Amino acid sequence: MKPQNDLLSATGTTIFTVMSALAVQHGAINLGQGFPDYDGPEDVIEAAAAALKDGRNQYPPLTGVPELRVAVSDHNRRFYGIEADPNAEVIVTSGATEAITACLMAVLNPGDECVLIEPLYDTYLPVVRMLGAIPRLVRLSPPKWELPRAELAAAFGPKTKAILLNSPMNPTGKVFTAAELAFLADLIARHDCYAICDEVYEHLTFDGWKHIPLMTLPGMRERCMRIGSAGKTFSLTGWKVGYITCDRTLAPNVAKAHQNLTFTTPPNLQRGVAIGLAKEDAYFAGLSASLQSRRDRLATGLAELGFGVLPTQGSYFITTDFRPIMSPLGFNGDDVAFCRLLTEEAKVTAIPVTAFYASAEAPGHYARFAFCKGEAVIDAALERMRNWLALRGGRQLTAVAG
Ligand code: PMP
Ligand code: GLN
Repeated sequence: MKPQNDLLSATGTTIFTVMSALAVQHGAINLGQGFPDYDGPEDVIEAAAAALKDGRNQYPPLTGVPELRVAVSDHNRRFYGIEADPNAEVIVTSGATEAITACLMAVLNPGDECVLIEPLYDTYLPVVRMLGAIPRLVRLSPPKWELPRAELAAAFGPKTKAILLNSPMNPTGKVFTAAELAFLADLIARHDCYAICDEVYEHLTFDGWKHIPLMTLPGMRERCMRIGSAGKTFSLTGWKVGYITCDRTLAPNVAKAHQNLTFTTPPNLQRGVAIGLAKEDAYFAGLSASLQSRRDRLATGLAELGFGVLPTQGSYFITTDFRPIMSPLGFNGDDVAFCRLLTEEAKVTAIPVTAFYASAEAPGHYARFAFCKGEAVIDAALERMRNWLALRGGRQLTAVAG
C-alpha cells in the first residue's frame, strides 16, 4: 500500500488524550487535560436546550447565526473597545481549534514563514506544516517566560507571513504585557505580517492582570485575527464553539477556510453562547475570581508538598518544577516519566511540559497541573500526592538505612 500522509503519520496522538486515557486506566484524578469538572452557567445551557426543541436544527449560516455574531461584536466593544461589523467581521467556528486552523489557512501559502512561540499549544505546529508553511520557533524560558526580544526580531524576515500568539498562554499561565505586545506589533507592522491571536483564556486572568488583545494596538486592527472560545469562557469545553473577529478584508478567506473544514457549527449551541456573551459583568468577574481561588488552593498545596511552583497570571494551568521533591527521592527521570509515575503510583495525572515543545532540547523537569476542578477534587489530589511522597520518602529512607 502507498504511504499515507507523511506529516500525520509522523504526528503522535495528542498528549491530552494520552494522559486522560492513562488517568482512566489507573483511576487517577485527572489534573492533566484542561476541562472543568463542573458545569457551565445554567441559563446558557437552558438556552441551548430550548433551541434544540424549537426547530433550530438545520444548517445555520456559514459564518454563524446572526444573534451570535452580534453578541461577539458587542462583547468586543464592551470589553476591549473593538468595533467589528457582525455581518462582515465575525466568523463562528467549531471550537478555537478550528478557528486557529482556519486563520492559518486564510493567510499562509506553502513556503511562507510563520513565527510560533514555544512552549506552544499542540495543534499549531502540525497545522502550519500541513499547509506547507515554515515554522520559525522562538522560545520563552522558565521560570519567567520573558519575551526574548532579540531572538524574536531575528525570527522575522522577508518571508514572514504571520505570527501565532497565545495570550493568556497555555501552559505557562503568562499574560503578555502591554510593552511586549507593543514590541510584537512593531515587528508585525514593519514586516507587513498577520497575527493569529489565540485568546481562548481572555477572561481567565488573575491578580488584577488584564488581557489586552493585540488587535487593540495601533496598526493592528487590520492585521489580527482574534480567536475566542465558548469552551473556556463558559466552562463548556465539550461544546466546541469558537469565534473569530478580523478585518473585513481577511474575513472572506477565513470564512472559506471554515467552509472547507466544517462549513458550520451547531445552531442550538450558538444560541446558548449568544446568551452567554451577553451576561452581566459580574459573571465574567466571578469566573476569574472562582478560578483564582482554585489556582491559589492548588498552588499553595503543591508548594507545601515541595514543588517549585511557577506563577500563573491566567489560563487553567500551573507549571511546576518537580525536581525539588523528586531529586531527594533519587528520581532523575524526565517529565514524561514523572507524569507517568505520578499517574500510576500517586493516582494523580499531570501533563509533561515537553509536549509543548517542538524539539528534544526542551526543559524536561516541568509538569503542568490544571486547577479548573472542584475544591474537594483539588484537595483529594493533593492528599494523594502527600501520601505517595511520604511512602516514597519512607521507602527511600529504608533503602538508604538498609
Ligand atoms: N488554544 C489553546 C491555547 C487551548 O488551550 C485550547 C484548549 N482548549 C484551544 C485553543 C482549543 O479550544 P477549543 O476547545 O475551543 O477548540
Ligand atoms: N486545551 C486543553 C489543554 O491544554 C486540551 C484540549 C484538548 O484536549 N484538545 O489541556
